[in-house]
Amino acid sequence: MESAHHCDLVIRRGHVLTMDDQGTRYQSADIAVLEGEILAIGPSLAVQGHMEIEADGNAVLPGLIDCHMHQTLLRGLCEDLPLMRWLEEICYPKDRAFRPHHQRAAAIMNQLEMIRGGVTTFIDIFRFPDQAARVTEQSGLRGIFSPQIIDDPPGAGETVESSLAFIQEWKDRVPGRIQTWFGPHSIYSCSTSTYQQIQKLAEEYDVGIHTHLAETLDEVRLIRRQYGKTPAEYLAEIGLLGPRLLVAHAVHLTDGDLKLLAQHDVAVAYNPSSNMKLASGVARIPDLLEAGIRVGLGTDSNLSNNNLDMFEEMRLGAMLQKLSQSDAEALPCDTILRMATSQAAVCLGLGAEVGCLEVGKRADIIIVDLHQPHLWPVLPEPMSNIVEQLVYSASAGDVLTTIVDGKVLMRDRSVLTLDEGAAEQLVQDAALDLVRRSGLDRRLPTEGRKGGVTAET
Ligand SMILES: [Zn+2]
Repeated sequence: MESAHHCDLVIRRGHVLTMDDQGTRYQSADIAVLEGEILAIGPSLAVQGHMEIEADGNAVLPGLIDCHMHQTLLRGLCEDLPLMRWLEEICYPKDRAFRPHHQRAAAIMNQLEMIRGGVTTFIDIFRFPDQAARVTEQSGLRGIFSPQIIDDPPGAGETVESSLAFIQEWKDRVPGRIQTWFGPHSIYSCSTSTYQQIQKLAEEYDVGIHTHLAETLDEVRLIRRQYGKTPAEYLAEIGLLGPRLLVAHAVHLTDGDLKLLAQHDVAVAYNPSSNMKLASGVARIPDLLEAGIRVGLGTDSNLSNNNLDMFEEMRLGAMLQKLSQSDAEALPCDTILRMATSQAAVCLGLGAEVGCLEVGKRADIIIVDLHQPHLWPVLPEPMSNIVEQLVYSASAGDVLTTIVDGKVLMRDRSVLTLDEGAAEQLVQDAALDLVRRSGLDRRLPTEGRKGGVTAET
């Protein structure tokens, strides 16, 4: 090492999965990082890092990317309802009572969970984006904010004006790491003129648009009654379809809808856990991929999932397709892992920056602990089963280290950028306050719950 170059960070001796186009893997390689960028990847690099991390044969791969999530505060209450009742009885009252301090607590909780689970990039569609973005400045994660615009019911979301003010303030504030999009919630909660106004502004500011589309059959029936079209046909007619649009769910699509999405290069976020839990249906992922549509994976939210574990999402997302297609070959491991890494990056317009480990890309890297019984055995390259292990056997808790832009956000399971100790009480207090303000406490069973036990203290 006497003639060694210096760089900021070197990860040593990892079982590296680059997720590049060729699917390059290394049995044991180092990754050197300089100024947030990947400088070199290869065995025994002659370079010295100001920080050195020993990967010890563990899996080193690109950070996971959540292509649809809401940084909500509540989970595990008012469960087991279908989507429209769940929205009307739980979400909208809660969202009307939601205040900036709730969003701050929610963002801290969600971002701690993402860092711990190896998620390095997310797109958030929810409330008070400046609060969530401020937490992201501190957490070090890469985030796209598409504040959730809702016309009806009024007060349950952001407005076009508040979203525009956010974009103007934040568009260039944290270059590369925080991006601002528009987030009209859905066709049933936003008017045609709102969508069209957003389309114009998105072009003017050159930002993306994120919306929910064809999530349930109820929604499709509603839109057909209201506009005489499928949700995708309606968006096509009003001029919304295009490469800057990312639609969440897209469960109930006709063959004609698929063609429209493909023709206009619209990206889709697949949310298997949420679709199963809310009994929304099964998205036509093999058909979407066959049509050449960009598809990324998303968790949807803690309220509808109920966690942000992208490993679980990969496993369930693959298995749901196999079951529904009666085809064990449907949605293979490599495809679903790409939907959480390289393809996900392409869906968010970040394909040139992140999603795979290549020289010149931003250093968004995670290390997953393979030295655990539930991940044995790992076979040596080139017959490696590492992709299969990550998709079917790993979970969020197996992530040891999370790095974004070359900055270490978590090392050996210790989060370095947010104060986890203080966060728990903050979240507890904010959640209880939100439950009371929104009147959800009156809906929750407090006594005589079947099978429940109340301890008198
Ligand atoms: Zn959603």
